[in-house]
Amino acid sequence: MSATTTLTLTGARVIDPATGRDEIANIVVDGERIAAVGDDSAGLRLDCDGLVISPGLVDLHVHLREPGGEDAETVASGTAAAALGGFTAVCPMANTEPVADHAAVIEQVKQLAVAAGRCDVHPVGAITQHLAGERLAELGAMAAVGVRCFSDDGIPVGSAQVLRRAMAYARTWDAIICNHAEDPALVAGGTANEGGVAARLGLPGRPHEAEEVMIARDLLLAEGLGARLHIPHVSTARAVELIREAKQRGVRVTAEATPHHFTLTEDLAGDFDAVYRVNPPLRTAADVRAIRAGLAEGTLDAIATDHAPHAPEHKEQEWGHAPPGMVGLETALAVTLTELVFPERGEPTLTLPQAVRALSTAPARSRDIDGHGGPLEPGAPANLCVFDPQAQWTVQPGVLVSRSHNTPFAGRTLRGRVVHTLLRGRFTVHDGELTDEADPDDGDGEPAVSGNLHHTGLGPVAQPPPAGPTPAEPGATASAPQASIAGQERAGG
Ligand SMILES: [Zn+2]
Repeated sequence: MSATTTLTLTGARVIDPATGRDEIANIVVDGERIAAVGDDSAGLRLDCDGLVISPGLVDLHVHLREPGGEDAETVASGTAAAALGGFTAVCPMANTEPVADHAAVIEQVKQLAVAAGRCDVHPVGAITQHLAGERLAELGAMAAVGVRCFSDDGIPVGSAQVLRRAMAYARTWDAIICNHAEDPALVAGGTANEGGVAARLGLPGRPHEAEEVMIARDLLLAEGLGARLHIPHVSTARAVELIREAKQRGVRVTAEATPHHFTLTEDLAGDFDAVYRVNPPLRTAADVRAIRAGLAEGTLDAIATDHAPHAPEHKEQEWGHAPPGMVGLETALAVTLTELVFPERGEPTLTLPQAVRALSTAPARSRDIDGHGGPLEPGAPANLCVFDPQAQWTVQPGVLVSRSHNTPFAGRTLRGRVVHTLLRGRFTVHDGELTDEADPDDGDGEPAVSGNLHHTGLGPVAQPPPAGPTPAEPGATASAPQASIAGQERAGG
């Protein structure tokens, strides 16, 4: 068993919404845990001057496509994308093949994630068998293996009776129901926001009322049962109002917004580029403003990506045939910083601590994900995102490590770049590159701090260790950068 490695991240702005901390400080990491936050320093030193350290980001809504959709994404490639995006925990949806409607698929996805070692994965279980909206899935068996949230995401549960029964069961474990909020009859056949743009283009519409009707129904059902409800990808102004009113009444509801819904509008359908096709659809500028206001006031608790990879042969079809969805894990932080925290025009929507709360602390709390979202304090797992809030970069779909490249932000220059991601004290990303130390146990059951603390041209220069070679990681400060996995992923995508 190797000795525990100690590391100090020095001089960063530490933002920890769970404690309210926002100050320049060192964080000492000892093995897989935080040993100190403040002036202390021990072991290897890594200069983080000018950078921000936040709790690792948490994504409530991703699609990792495995099992069954490995042409678009795998648990390994999706969690690699998550790590590069600063995430330390993600919640993959159940619409795989086979569907995650029973415990075996949940266990399979979790095991694949542990083997990949890059990001904690908390699978969402299906509400109904085969996502068919009729018979309840094996909720109890899935709860028994740790599932905290159930959703048929992508497909609404049309029957109020079925959803109500699911809520009643989920309440037994104080688990959460997350229903895809679009009334199926109202959106049938629609591919874009119903309104002037869709009418001009001749595209069948999905009216905003479809979302609002479903949210209103689900809020009433949750209220009646005292059940927990999470609303995914809120996209309309009236939906924000409904959630605000429900929270004021004490309904146990949380909600998320996606970067595309708080940034992009229906006008992008104009050239029929299916990269902009998504459900619920991109809406109006007024809706975008309302989503932003909802995030600022906390009505919308979390920013979630709805990372929805699609292989090019599927997505690069004409608008009406392409599947809906966009990738988002590798751009979420930067889009949030660029659009909401440091906008070139207009007033900021969020402060930096508010953005960290929406990307980490709030989603972790809303789904009972312990060890993530802070607090950053001694004894807590060292799940950290270290980012440069100034660095600018241009989104090039070909270099995303996700297997799919259907990003709506291609060519956009964004501000804010993930420099390091640490999962229980180990670098999953170092100097902006995936590390190759993905084995979570290093074969000895003792998670170790990566020793690759050398300058590779993206991040800050590491300080040499205070005295002599480090006992735990021979040659750690002298070896060449290990970015081979990143290169392989890119070549394979
Ligand atoms: Zn989704």
